[in-house]
Amino acid sequence: MTRRLLLIGPPGAGKGTQAGRLTEHFRIPAISTGDIFRQNLRDETELGLKAKAFMDAGDNVPDEVTNDLVRDRLSQPDCAEGFLLDGYPRTTDQVRALDEFLAEKGVALDAVVELVADPDIVVERLKKRAVDQGRADDDENVVRHRLDVYAKQTAPLIDVYAERGMLTKVNGIGEIDEVTGRILDALSVRDLP
Ligand code: AMP
Repeated sequence: MTRRLLLIGPPGAGKGTQAGRLTEHFRIPAISTGDIFRQNLRDETELGLKAKAFMDAGDNVPDEVTNDLVRDRLSQPDCAEGFLLDGYPRTTDQVRALDEFLAEKGVALDAVVELVADPDIVVERLKKRAVDQGRADDDENVVRHRLDVYAKQTAPLIDVYAERGMLTKVNGIGEIDEVTGRILDALSVRDLP
């Protein structure tokens, strides 16, 4: 069964971890724009160079760049039977671009999962990740800025999807398995077993 899912939530809510779980469960590719940008940074590609300053500062990479990247990725054959987007869309312009892409293909999203996490907990988690993984944008000041960017530019999208009746809210705090279970339960209530 085709599944087209979005995972939305603040930095540090555990989107990447849960995306990994869901991709195994549903056998669909997880597409994380953050991971794709980081890979391009490491490979020093043109895209990586374009994204670097924005990522280092904790700002969103410009919509045009990000939308082109996602359009290319979603056009790959492995996305034909579904996909899970992690960290995209992040702005209203990205919602518009995604809507346009899906409409062109004659398909629609099945559900949007919001991983809810308290900002204080998230900051603590990211401080730990800064030590474990050495991500430069997990520096505390950059983290606070990323949370601010999330609140201003991304949180409003939650209402957009809620109004469309697509949103399902899941508590992102707890053991990894527990949170995965909550997401799967929430999706099965929506007839997405
Ligand atoms: P993430 O791994 O999702 O926290 O993303 C890390 C960084 O990559 C963000 O702080 C942004 O600089 C950039 N990024 C990831 N996804 C997007 C997106 N959808 N739009 C713009 N910038 C993004």
